[in-house]
Amino acid sequence: MRRLAFFLLCWLVLPAWAEELMPMQAEQVGKHSWYVRGLPGAASRANQGFMSNAGFVVTQAGVVVFDSLGTPVLAEQLIGEIRKVTRQPIRRVIVSHWHADHYYGLQAFKKLGAEIWAHEAARPVLGSAAAADRLAQRRELLAPWVGDGFAVIPADHWLAGDAGFRLGGVHFHLRHVGPAHSPEDIVMFVEEDKVLFSGDTVFQGRVPFVGDADSKAWLAALDRLLALQPRAMVPGHGPASQTPRQDLTLTRDYLTDLRDKMGRAVADFVSFDAAFAAADWSRWKGLPAYHEAHRRNAFNTYLLMERESLAK
Ligand SMILES: [Zn+2]
Repeated sequence: MRRLAFFLLCWLVLPAWAEELMPMQAEQVGKHSWYVRGLPGAASRANQGFMSNAGFVVTQAGVVVFDSLGTPVLAEQLIGEIRKVTRQPIRRVIVSHWHADHYYGLQAFKKLGAEIWAHEAARPVLGSAAAADRLAQRRELLAPWVGDGFAVIPADHWLAGDAGFRLGGVHFHLRHVGPAHSPEDIVMFVEEDKVLFSGDTVFQGRVPFVGDADSKAWLAALDRLLALQPRAMVPGHGPASQTPRQDLTLTRDYLTDLRDKMGRAVADFVSFDAAFAAADWSRWKGLPAYHEAHRRNAFNTYLLMERESLAK
């Protein structure tokens, strides 16, 4: 009787639970390197916040993870994907930058005893008003996935600049390329695989989120990524690239286009609204996240070009 009740419960509860999880499947991009790919567009109830990528590198002495996804539930799923590949312990999580969709899963890794590394330029974000606003927004948008049990986890090790380490015979190179998409941008290059985990310094297949980024410095960072000569690249959003050189151009062209158009408007004393309405954005209009991100990107770039022109 008790067994029957158990099966009945499973039959009633399990399908609902299974339905709640987003489909996730790790893809291999190098001998040791894997990643999971988030869905296109901005965070929403429909995608449960699974709109960013995360990577992991499997060595004979443990696993290194790059970014932790946008909720603890998604991070648990990522751990499940890692467990399908290896039983090696998860030693370290490198956080590319301190935006919600990349670090909200950290508590799941902390629970397993992983060490969290990030760049020290992210420190002011913790406890900031902007971070509190973002958390309130995510709690509302992504309940119950960002719920009562959610905790912001600080890094165990704050990097002051570039860093490198070796684990299980694999060489990891961390490059601080911020300020680009954010002040603290870290990319990870896996030497043996020639795989570059680029975080949000490169967006693929969607309009980048520019925020208050310094796009001039960002363009310089893209040059540093090209210098690593990666064979494959895992961006923070969108599919992995087997042709990184060509694919770095979407981010580069987008930033250049924003700077050209908004820079000209500032130089000619044209208001933002008039310049935005008059510009031809047709190259970007068909891309995911255009409606959520583009106008704000243009506005922030307009303000940046004003500051740059005053500084001249
Ligand atoms: Zn970001």
